[in-house]
Amino acid sequence: MSKLYRRFDALEAVRKAESTLLARNGSGKMNMNIAEIFGENCLSIDTLKERLPKSVWKVLKKTIRDNAPLDFEVADAVAVVMKEWATEKGATHYTHWFQPLTGATAEKHDSFITPNQGGGAITQFSGNDLMRGEPDASSFPSGGLRPTFEARGYTAWDPTSPAFIIENGNGSTLCIPSVFASWKGESLDFKTPLLRSIESLNKEALRTLKLFGEDDVTWVNATGGFEQEYFLIDQEYYYRRPDLLTSGRTLFGAKPPKGQELDDHYFGSIPDRILSFMLEAERELYRLGVPVKTRHNEVAPSQYEIAPIFEKANVAADHQQLTMITLKRIARKYGLVCLLHEKPFAGLNGSGKHANWSMVTSKGNNLLEPGDTPHDNMQFLFFFAAALKAVYEHQGLLRASIASAGNDHRLGANEAPPAIISAYIGEQLDDIVEQIKSGKAKTTKESGLLGLGIPVLPTIPKHAGDRNRTSPFAFTGNKFEFRAVGSEQTVSFPMTVLNTAVASAIDQMTTALETEMSSGSDLEAALETVLHNTFREIDPILFHGDGYSDDWQEEAAKRGLLNLKTTMEALPYFTEEKSIELFEKYNVLSEKELESRLEIYLEQYFYKLNIEAETTEDIVRTMIVPATIRYLNEILAVNDRGKASGLDITSTKTLAEEVNTVLSQLLVAVDKLRKVNEDLGGDTIPEKADHLSRVVLPEMNKVRVLSDKLEKLVPDDYWPLPSYREMLFVK
Ligand code: ADP
Ligand code: MG
Repeated sequence: MSKLYRRFDALEAVRKAESTLLARNGSGKMNMNIAEIFGENCLSIDTLKERLPKSVWKVLKKTIRDNAPLDFEVADAVAVVMKEWATEKGATHYTHWFQPLTGATAEKHDSFITPNQGGGAITQFSGNDLMRGEPDASSFPSGGLRPTFEARGYTAWDPTSPAFIIENGNGSTLCIPSVFASWKGESLDFKTPLLRSIESLNKEALRTLKLFGEDDVTWVNATGGFEQEYFLIDQEYYYRRPDLLTSGRTLFGAKPPKGQELDDHYFGSIPDRILSFMLEAERELYRLGVPVKTRHNEVAPSQYEIAPIFEKANVAADHQQLTMITLKRIARKYGLVCLLHEKPFAGLNGSGKHANWSMVTSKGNNLLEPGDTPHDNMQFLFFFAAALKAVYEHQGLLRASIASAGNDHRLGANEAPPAIISAYIGEQLDDIVEQIKSGKAKTTKESGLLGLGIPVLPTIPKHAGDRNRTSPFAFTGNKFEFRAVGSEQTVSFPMTVLNTAVASAIDQMTTALETEMSSGSDLEAALETVLHNTFREIDPILFHGDGYSDDWQEEAAKRGLLNLKTTMEALPYFTEEKSIELFEKYNVLSEKELESRLEIYLEQYFYKLNIEAETTEDIVRTMIVPATIRYLNEILAVNDRGKASGLDITSTKTLAEEVNTVLSQLLVAVDKLRKVNEDLGGDTIPEKADHLSRVVLPEMNKVRVLSDKLEKLVPDDYWPLPSYREMLFVK
């Protein structure tokens, strides 16, 4: 049988995969006693407390809970405990685990073992090793902050996120969550600014809480719960799709007759192999101390979702990275590939990452929980208003923080939120906001009187947000849900922007409160004024209609809201004056650090599109064109022989013409693509990125349309790429 039939080998393998893989992995012997296994591969606060000398624990606890600085003596003691714990778990190596600006995570493993003079070896791990690492970091992007000849960057332990162990059949490694900075102290990662933003939020919120008389609150932290959507396909298909291999998404593929229109996949029962995969992935996450909670099918065929219980934002962000890594790793054991790309399949829903966000105090109170007492309600309304003000003031920056080549396929595509950032707060709260705006906040729709001073807020339905899926930023009962984040993105940066913008809004509103109060108002009256002004100011950001409609595009423009449709339009907001001022004022990122991030984001965008363009060209020339020519050759042979034997060959001739016409158009289009992609469009990264988005991307799309047309003409057994129908439905 000729090589042409490779695609069917894949189908054959997939057919057999389920039973063999299940027999190998899903033997039903996995310990799923969650209480027993939860956190066994994670160095929890409890274990540290148990094993550390009391005096050391007291200092460390202050660092973990209150972000107090840590000294080396404490680090030495912690290092001893950490090494002990890790070696008990079979770890031979350790690594500082960090989030470089590529968006993935990075690790460089060092052994605990040091040879000694007597020819043996001892294990060693000091406070110094724990606190600081020096990876040879010249290949991580720095956006001009660290020239390659000054390769030294260093990693530093982040004691607020627990260390954990990554196992492999042949050994284990202790992972120490860390920040990553240049030798001059400039941040080269996502975690540093996240930690700084949490600190700014803490500082400003504490200031407010003092005014509210909450003197015993010692810290405020952001909370995060991140819902992850992903696709699973059989690896046999993956290996036969060069586009999935290089770009994480299909660059070709005709729409199958059946897509997601029947909605029969959503919340449907989960196939066996997939369920086995989920169980094992969840088990691994439990062991790492990641509190995953829900799983279900998503809207598109072969699309799923996993969501955790929320945690403090920094830990939640690390756990989100671990979740992505674990999904990818465990999928392979089941012969599957986990696709985290925002849009692996054209014409089907893409994947997002709903980022649920709120603020919690040291007393365990959620600051976005409407309360039972007038006092709690006033406080709630203050922080609620501050979050809305943050979104209003920094729409551009929020949009920029989630800009990527992948997310461009999603935002505004009638399945994900539009590119316009607006907020949805539900009917009840909208009613209250209206009343406060008009200065008559005395009644509510349902339960009579509203205080500022008067009883309680009505019960806000927790699932109010679900009634408007089109909103990018929705209040869902006791938290906000930022829904525009892409499935493959790190949540750290959008959370950093949100924290900082909210810190700034709280700061401004608290200052206004203080001003009112210093001129004689009591807290209640001062608050009434501040809320009145704030809700009036932020009015344009509130939108309760259909975010997918054309009317909204017009209406948003009238309101002066930004509508940044692409990455290239959004990214400049990183270094807008307002953004620089914000980040510098709250010591989250310096202007230089912001500029470097802009450059890295542009660079990533440029590389991704360039790889896609080259892969497109490659697949067309080496797979699609040859397959089409073989077919054409075959029809022509029929024509020749048909004519010789006196058959009427009119219709086969028409068919040959049809195939030939599309083939010729495709050859012209792919030639054009090659030419425009050879031209770099300029010397600088912004010029190159702009060229790709404006000139190359449209040519790529034209090539795809023609190729997809051929997929419907060329015989199925000649077509070299696994089809959408196969990848999504044969499993
Ligand atoms: P919904 O049905 O509105 O999506 P869920 O209760 O299912 O709400 O929660 C969705 C996600 O939001 C979960 O990951 C959950 O942990 C998270 N979440 C809930 N409360 C908070 C909070 N206070 N802060 C951050 N995330 C939260
Ligand atoms: Mg949700």
